[in-house]
Parts: sequence; structure tokens; C-alpha cells
Amino acid sequence: MKKINNFINGEFVSSARTFDKRSPLNDAIIAQVYEAGQADVHAAVQAARAALDGPWGKLVVADRVDLLYGVADEINRRFDEFLEAECADTGKPMSLARHIDIPRGAANFKIFADVIKNTPTEFFNMTTPDGLGALNYATRSPVGVVGIVCPWNLPLLLMTWKAGPALACGNTIVVKPSEETPQTATLLGEVMNSVGIPKGVYNVVHGFGPGSAGEFLTTHQGVNAITFTGETRTGAAIMKAAADGARPVSLEMGGKNPAIIFADCDFDAAIEGTMRSVFVNCGQVCLGTERVYVERPIFDKFVAALKAGAESLKIGVPDDPATGIGPLISQEHKTKVLSYYQKAKDEGATIVTGGGVPEMAGDLAHGAWVQPTIWLGLSDDATVCREEIFGPCCHISPFDSEEEVIRRANDTIYGLAASIWTSNLQRGHRMAAKIDAGLVWVNSWFLRDLRTPFGGAKQSGIGREGGVHSLEFYTELKNICIKL
Ligand code: NAD
Repeated sequence: MKKINNFINGEFVSSARTFDKRSPLNDAIIAQVYEAGQADVHAAVQAARAALDGPWGKLVVADRVDLLYGVADEINRRFDEFLEAECADTGKPMSLARHIDIPRGAANFKIFADVIKNTPTEFFNMTTPDGLGALNYATRSPVGVVGIVCPWNLPLLLMTWKAGPALACGNTIVVKPSEETPQTATLLGEVMNSVGIPKGVYNVVHGFGPGSAGEFLTTHQGVNAITFTGETRTGAAIMKAAADGARPVSLEMGGKNPAIIFADCDFDAAIEGTMRSVFVNCGQVCLGTERVYVERPIFDKFVAALKAGAESLKIGVPDDPATGIGPLISQEHKTKVLSYYQKAKDEGATIVTGGGVPEMAGDLAHGAWVQPTIWLGLSDDATVCREEIFGPCCHISPFDSEEEVIRRANDTIYGLAASIWTSNLQRGHRMAAKIDAGLVWVNSWFLRDLRTPFGGAKQSGIGREGGVHSLEFYTELKNICIKL
């Protein structure tokens, strides 16, 4: 049986307890993971502190940048190992992870190395009563030891989205991957060692949230800042933990994202984009669409086309190139998603397609599979129209005016992302300005330039990361004023 260790101070270390990692494909145990206890987390934080005060803290930016480029290159050199580990943990199609998860995981190190290399120093000459003036300049120092708590849906991509800028800014880190996806973060430890990242700069502790590694890390007073991606409820708990010691948090949390489809849209593009935003990664994407509003003249045509698209997706295993959709992450998540499928039925939804569990052959019958599902006919206050499901499903409803659809799209506690499909760009700008969300796409979905700000409004997030915005969180600005 494969064993997955913690990675502390450059060493792969076991611990007193293990937990099972099960395959989403068939529920078989594929690995045993060493769960970090309080002492292990403490050792990781101590190692991170020592590296910060030691070799890592002494490097000049250019050397850090070179090392991070090396990390990216080494991930790419070991691409297939990362691909296999990510797909084993998540069950996602290899075609997807090959194009998104792994390349973006590597790119996150290069892009933030470039950001730090190219960030200018802010300075101001000021006048003084004696006429000689003073010079102000602002330096950026690392915030210290950063705790990174990660979800399971895009494990390597979302972890490196935090690790890349944290390291580029000179911090050291302790990563707590999701208990569902321990492998790629651990593999990255090998990469760190092989490219010469000093011991203790990158540490990984495995385990769960409350009463386990997640809580031990976020309550540890040796951690100077905490960055988190996951559910809103968990983010709130982490914020409370961070309040002790008044430590900064960056929170990327849940969503209930709308797609708004106008009758004048490029119909095929809107279908293709909405298909991806609802079903890709089996609907387990924070930016994904779960509420679709379609202008009435094209409503029936849109529903028919999305239904045909959903029914054409091949449900299958990661290494089948024809697979369009894999399983959910776990039995627990399957139970949660199916409870929403049941609620939709109970609240009177018309099921356009799906709504249950597909028939799978052999041992796959034990996997976390659910059918891609589309509902109609519910009011905006139905449970599946309000709560984040995080599965391959959406509710579609018609609308008649811009004012109406903006009001309905904004009527949520969340504000992560939205997409608007129209050939009228004036309308696109007008609508985008009125949507309460951190990201709005017009005529696209998931088109991301990593230099742009990323984060959620309302209960979808606190803070922005991406490009120079990441520097605000991962560095401490200090103004130095020199009297001339
Ligand atoms: P989750 O909140 O259940 O878990 C995330 C991480 O937090 C895991 O590592 C978990 O072990 C840890 N954790 C749980 N309780 C904790 C606690 N009390 N203290 C410390 N750590 C704790 O989220 P998930 O189920 O892994 O991921 C799915 C959620 O993530 C969805 O809500 C999704 O919208 C959200 N998400 C958001 C973004 C974004 O960028 N906004 C991106 C991806 C996923």
C-alpha cells in the first residue's frame, strides 16, 4: 500500500496516525496518509521559521527567482508523475488535468517570480520647511511563515496559486492540502529538494480541519499569515482562528455563480461556455455556473441544446480520452450532491436530464458517480437555486429584462463570478458594472490572465490575489523616510 508522508524541513516524515485515501472511481483504498499531529505541525512551523531566518531569508530576489523557475521546470519535467497523482486522487479526466491543473501548477511559480522581479519600488520626494526635502521609499519584506490551507477540487493549481507568490515574496510556507488530495503537494516536496530550495522553506502537513492539522496550523502562533481556499463556513472558522494574534487572512470561498444568456448572443459559443462552466471537473469548480438565466425568446432552444450537450458527455475514467466527466471527489460529497438532487425533486423541479446515479460496470459501481443534471421550473428561493452544490448541475430559468436579471443574479450571499453572453458589448459593459462579483466574464468563462485580480465579493472571499495584488498579502510594506 502506498504511504504518503508529511514533508517537514526537507524530509519525508511519518507520524503516529494514518488515514485512508480512497479512489473516487471505485472507493478502493489507494494510499495511507500520515496525519500530522500537533507536534508535527509545530515542527513544520519551526522549520519554516528557521529557513526564513537562515538561508532563504538571505537570498537576493534574483536567486529566488531562479530557484522558482527551476521548480516550474522540474514540475514540467515530471509532468506525467504529477498528472497521474492528481488524477488518482481526484478521478478527473487526464485530458483536463493535462491542459489545466499541471501546466498551471508549474506556471504559478514562474508568473509570480516574474511579478516580484518586475515590481518597482515606490518613492516620493517631499518638501520640508528647511527647503532640503526628504526622500521616502517603500520596501517589501516577507510577512514571515505563511499557512496555506487548500481544497481538493484543483489541488496542485490552487495550492501553487498561493505557494508561488508566497515563496516569490520571500516567505516560507506550511501547506495543509485537503485530506482528499494529499499526493501532488507531497510530490512537490521532492521537486523542492531536487532543485535546491533550502530545507524548511516548503513544508506539507496532512490531515483534516477541526482537531487535526488544519486547526493546529491555523491556531499556531508561529504562523504570521493564513491563506485559504475552500467553503465559506470553513473560511469563517479560519478567520476566527486568525483573530488570535491579529493575523492577516486571505480567503477564497464558495460561490453560486450566475450565467446570463441574452437572445442576441453567439448561441453556439454560449452553449459551449455554459457546458464547460456547469460540467467541467464534474461541476467542482468554484467559478462554475449553477444558476443559468436565459432571455425568454431563446429559452426553449437553449434548454434543448444544453440538455443535448449534457447527455453527450461520456462519464468515465481518467485515462479514457473520450471521458468528458469523471466522478465526484468522494462518497461523502456524492451523498451531499444527491441530497440536493432529491431536494430539487421535493421542491417541484422539472428534471430536464439526469437527477440520479449513472450505471457503472464492475467495481466502478462503488465510485462517486452522479449524472449531469439540469432543472427547470423552480423559484429563485428554492434550495438548489440558493445553496452552493458543487456538483455537475444547474437550474435554468427565463428572464425578460436587464433590470430583472441583475436583481435576480445579485440576490445571493455569494459574489464570486458571473458570465454574460451577448453580442451587444455596450450591454456587456453595463451589466458587468452592476453585477456583485469579483470576476465577470463577457462572452467567455474561465479565461484567466494570472496578472489580474482574483477573489470574491460578499461571502465568496476576503482580499484579492493575482499579479501585483498577491504582493499586498504576501509582503509587508515599510516606508523609509530619509531627511536630506
Ligand atoms: P473545505 O472548506 O471543506 O476544506 C478546505 C480545506 O480546509 C481542507 O484542507 C480542510 O481540511 C480544511 N479545513 C476544514 N475545516 C477547517 C478548520 N476548522 N480549520 C482549518 N482548516 C480546515 O472545502 P473543500 O470541500 O475542500 O472545497 C470545496 C469548496 O471550496 C467549495 O465551497 C468551493 O466553492 C470552494 N473553492 C473556492 C475557490 C475560490 O477561489 N473562491 C476555489 C476552489 C474551491
